Amino acid sequence: MSKTLFEKIIAREIPAAIVYEDESVLAFRDIHPAAPTHVLIVPKKAIPRIAETAVDEQQLLGHLMLKAAAVAAQLGLDKTGYRLVINNGKDGGETVPHLHCHILGGRHLAWPPG
Ligand code: AMP
Repeated sequence: MSKTLFEKIIAREIPAAIVYEDESVLAFRDIHPAAPTHVLIVPKKAIPRIAETAVDEQQLLGHLMLKAAAVAAQLGLDKTGYRLVINNGKDGGETVPHLHCHILGGRHLAWPPG
């Protein structure tokens, strides 16, 4: 199967502004920021979307969430607040079939989302 866009970023085949990396996740700035700070954090494992995660990926998902909060703090968002978003499927607005969590902050975010 061909690599997803995010697998290519993980493999350094496509450039990205990386803000955090460890053995299992990578965080980089969104190319079309929807807020003053907009970072994506992705598992290096090619999981298409949250609906297709398995029980044995529980630890990886927990790590992804903990690191999303750590990256938000690293970027100073913990002082003012931020939002974590996972889009799943067509109505969820998913455009890249590689699990990713948006980290958004730096302005007040309206609720409900559009
Ligand atoms: P989603 O719509 O939830 O699937 O989110 C995909 C996100 O990937 C969008 O916010 C895009 O702006 C972002 N994106 C697309 N291409 C790139 C890229 N080359 N580098 C960084 N972010 C990207």
